[in-house]
Amino acid sequence: MTTTVALAGSTGSIGTQTIEVVEAEPDRYEIVALGATGRNLDLLAEQVEAVRPKVVAIADAAFVEAARDRLPGVEIRVGTEGLASLGGEADVCVNGVVGFAGLEVTLATLLAGRRLALANKESLIAGGPVVQRARRTPGAELVPVDSEHGALHQCLRSRDETGPARVAALVLTASGGPFRGRTKADLASVTVDDALAHPTWSMGPKITVDSSTLMNKGLEVIEANELFGEPAGEHGVGIGFDEIDVVVHPQSVVHSMVTYTDGSTIAQLSMPTMCLPIGYALAWPDRSAAPFGAIDWTSLSRLDFEPPDHDAFPCLGLAYAAGRAGGVAPAWLNAANEEAVDAFLHGGIAWADIAAVCATVLDRHEPGVPADVEDVIAADREARLAARSVMGLASRPQEPR
Ligand code: MG
Repeated sequence: MTTTVALAGSTGSIGTQTIEVVEAEPDRYEIVALGATGRNLDLLAEQVEAVRPKVVAIADAAFVEAARDRLPGVEIRVGTEGLASLGGEADVCVNGVVGFAGLEVTLATLLAGRRLALANKESLIAGGPVVQRARRTPGAELVPVDSEHGALHQCLRSRDETGPARVAALVLTASGGPFRGRTKADLASVTVDDALAHPTWSMGPKITVDSSTLMNKGLEVIEANELFGEPAGEHGVGIGFDEIDVVVHPQSVVHSMVTYTDGSTIAQLSMPTMCLPIGYALAWPDRSAAPFGAIDWTSLSRLDFEPPDHDAFPCLGLAYAAGRAGGVAPAWLNAANEEAVDAFLHGGIAWADIAAVCATVLDRHEPGVPADVEDVIAADREARLAARSVMGLASRPQEPR
């Protein structure tokens, strides 16, 4: 039987790799819907030609007219709502949207009782309590498309799911990014190009900068807690932030590990490619028939591990603090980080200021637990205003959501 796939964020790094995975098993999957901002209409038009989806969503209204011209005869849906509607169009929705803009796709997919293949970690981090409620919708499933969490998902399958979880720790690996081994003083003058030169992973600019600050790993700690921690009892394995560890592993071959109470550690290994976790989330509970990132053991010579440097990379500690605070704190941290990274990429602040801005904004957050999506959006907005004021930037015109 064919699995139908909706793909939100089709022109991004996750989107193009999802199409690669689907093309490797064309009889198994059918992409029925594509969604993108509309900024890269050339690539989107190519994808529509190749995939022939029933529906296309253009998230940014500014590109809708041009999209209608380029894609005659295709049903086009518009805006955040149009993009979110893709969540109910297929068996699986891959959410490869960048940043907080992915929240509605996450919620709509879960509330439609479909499987969410989640690459947009920001929606889970910022929307935590609201997303957890949506996960309880009958039929809803969440399979992470993040190499670390895909690895944890696999490692957790070695437990007896009918008995106690017996998990002692989740160990997230971090490549360390381009600045591994540098001191705080070394990092005072790094440039945008330096930050974008990731040694092992090829990804979009936002997540690549997050990798250089270790904010990506920090957000992944919160993501791991949301996916597998307490109090989400029905999904959790009884761990909290004290049981989530980070270890730097520069080769990016061990994607994460689970240590059980008897002392055993189970790890998942493969060469770095997002096609593997994408294929895992599409095929789950089965596996892909096509291999991605299989290891050649004749050329893999060593695997190194070292503790993270919290002094040089304070974003990691900030994320633990926001995660432990819970409620809207992760939403504030995520929003502050998105604004700071955007300012850094546009030359507005220095690399080291990203952590400083995040720390100041997180300090200012008003604690509270979001009751609904409006509360999450309000927290996100307030944090962005605070971040922009801390950076001395004018606030942006509010974008319609
Ligand atoms: Mg990751």
